[in-house]
Amino acid sequence: MSVKIVLVYQSLLGIYGDRGNSQVLAKRLEWRGVDAEVIAVEPGAPLPADGAIYLLGGGEDNAQTTAVRELRSDGALFSALDAGAVLFAVCAGYQICGHTFTIGENDEVREGLGLLDVETRRGAKRAVGEILTRWTKPDGTTSLITGFENHGGYTTLGPDAAPLAQVEVGIGNDGHGTEGAVQGHVIGTYPHGPVLARNPELADYLLALALGRRLDPLDRAAEQHAGLRRERIALVRR
Ligand code: GLN
Repeated sequence: MSVKIVLVYQSLLGIYGDRGNSQVLAKRLEWRGVDAEVIAVEPGAPLPADGAIYLLGGGEDNAQTTAVRELRSDGALFSALDAGAVLFAVCAGYQICGHTFTIGENDEVREGLGLLDVETRRGAKRAVGEILTRWTKPDGTTSLITGFENHGGYTTLGPDAAPLAQVEVGIGNDGHGTEGAVQGHVIGTYPHGPVLARNPELADYLLALALGRRLDPLDRAAEQHAGLRRERIALVRR
């Protein structure tokens, strides 16, 4: 049986190229001989409830409200998470996972999905540019995450959500040093890139979480990627 990667509502949350995350996950499974399929679902069509990983991407304010409404009325994302699936959400997708977020010039408050203990409000200045963070992996070792951020909303974490990483360059959650949030199998983060193409270790972490087992390293792919990654990190630090 193939591992289902569910790409959620690209017509709403697909303007930053985050769909590349689905291709990275599928390719890294394929390289390990594991069958994978990417299922792209648009609003109005039912989401599968048996996905292993669900992906939400970046988008505009109004699309966020529509995505919340559709996901709530569909319901399958919630049952999939109850059954152990992983949700990886970027930027607008991350914000809608929280309790509330604001949209538009007048900062209207909207209810989110309530999957992460976070709140998002408009920040002092829009966060735009390269971002570099240090991610502490479950084994206690750390790794750098590179990407670019582009968001007006600033996110604060409640006690049930842990930061994904610490900011070295950029704004991250709210300019106070943390980036992203993790709560059970729900992971939210700001970097686009797509972030999993720039940071394959993060992709493998999501896959291991979804499959419930360690994955063999992909040495050849890692070698090919290392030079490009070094260049990106040096560029952001400059
Ligand atoms: N509309 C949200 C914000 O500006 C999300 C933007 C995005 O997804 N890049 O905060």
